[in-house]
Amino acid sequence: MEPTENESFRDTIGTMTDDGKRAWVYPKKPSGKFYKYRKIVSYGLLVFLLTSPFIKINGNQFILINILERRFNIFGLPFWPQDFYLVVMSMLIGVVFITLFTVSFGRVFCGWICPQTIFMEMVFRRIEYWIEGDRNKQRKLDRQEWNAEKIRKKGLKWFIFLIISFIIANVFLAYLIGSDKLFKYITGNPLDHLGTLFPLLIFTAVFYFVFAWFREQVCIIACPYGRLQSVLLDNKSIVVAYDHKRGEAENGRKKFRKNEDRAALGHGDCIDCLQCVNVCPTGIDIRNGTQLECVNCTACIDECDHIMESINLPKGLIRYASEDEIEKKVKFKITTRMKGYIAVLTILTGIFIGLLFLRNDVEATVLRLPGQLYEHKEGNIISNVFTYKLVNKTTKDINDISFKLRKYKGTIKLVSSNDNFIVPRQELVEGTLFIEIAKSELSGDKNKLVIEVYSADELIETTTVNFLGPRSYN
Ligand code: SF4
Ligand code: SF4
Repeated sequence: MEPTENESFRDTIGTMTDDGKRAWVYPKKPSGKFYKYRKIVSYGLLVFLLTSPFIKINGNQFILINILERRFNIFGLPFWPQDFYLVVMSMLIGVVFITLFTVSFGRVFCGWICPQTIFMEMVFRRIEYWIEGDRNKQRKLDRQEWNAEKIRKKGLKWFIFLIISFIIANVFLAYLIGSDKLFKYITGNPLDHLGTLFPLLIFTAVFYFVFAWFREQVCIIACPYGRLQSVLLDNKSIVVAYDHKRGEAENGRKKFRKNEDRAALGHGDCIDCLQCVNVCPTGIDIRNGTQLECVNCTACIDECDHIMESINLPKGLIRYASEDEIEKKVKFKITTRMKGYIAVLTILTGIFIGLLFLRNDVEATVLRLPGQLYEHKEGNIISNVFTYKLVNKTTKDINDISFKLRKYKGTIKLVSSNDNFIVPRQELVEGTLFIEIAKSELSGDKNKLVIEVYSADELIETTTVNFLGPRSYN
């Protein structure tokens, strides 16, 4: 379908020129109420992001995402591959939560919480403003010849960007391999750890590329969440919106003229100063309506509020509002769709909390050795061989481990291990065991046995196995 004239802006993205080249965005330095709040939130989150891998709780790294060794710590709680069902549950909760949040408040996550926005707008962009100055100075610098000033400013900026990218890459690595290992590698000879040094340099290069050059393109063309919002938003979602009713009125926007009665002339409150466009880090004009490029950063709200204040008009021409609020003056309310998401979220969260409480600190798995049935031994004893795995998820060694059979009279013999052994903290111990039971004790060819795992006299885990025997016992 041919786009109408007003919709033609949707044909291209705001950061592309007519001939398909990148239109570099030079956003004006934001200031105002929302920017102040965003700074507070961002610096809090930056502290969290940069310190989490270095904080320990009961000896456990606060957050660890060691995919290679399949070890994860969330808020100091260790999770093992055996807890994968909890990861699946938490991912489901995350998806429903983001869906609910996006349906209700649009892309608010992008503007306030996303690490990409926080690093870009609150770290790298602020350094850029500090070295190169605001929007106009940056444009001028980019257009001018390479002279001493340009080399000094660009060189300093890129050097600082590189150092910060390197720091972020190290923190990122601390999340992946653990801060202890990272410190060991840092203090050791880098050539002894080329397998880690190489990824570290790649991460540094990726972060540098993203923050020095790719920038808003991450949000516009790379981030899947940005794509998702177009299917989740509806007229009731609260987004950063231009009040076109007020801004355009009957005869549209018009440049400001002192002592002109705009209302009498039928012009709206928008004075077409373009400050909301100049401040936008994704280079769009929010007056065209909600667009996928908008990361809800609120910079245009602050900027327009400054303009409204300066011409003595009420603030809020651009504000958090839904399309229905602007069009029909309908205030935000929880819709049936949102109630549905809230119900699903509540149920999933309830199940997750339940599973979390049921989760054992010690996990035992006993499995039949593949290809083995049973062995008939002297004295009418039937023997089955199994492998066992014991995972200690706690931060303390578990001592004096032993296995006992519940209900059945029989013996459990461990191969190549003392009968009472230790499972060190955060470790997995595995081995082989034989269960021997008198034939007369068995009630059929398949017998369900419960194996109890003790630490000294304390029962710490139970698991079940199928014990095989001959078909008839009469
Ligand atoms: S900042 Fe406000 S007044 Fe200026 S162009 Fe944007 S919407 Fe209109
Ligand atoms: S339109 Fe406004 S809220 Fe959206 S990205 Fe641009 S400045 Fe931020």
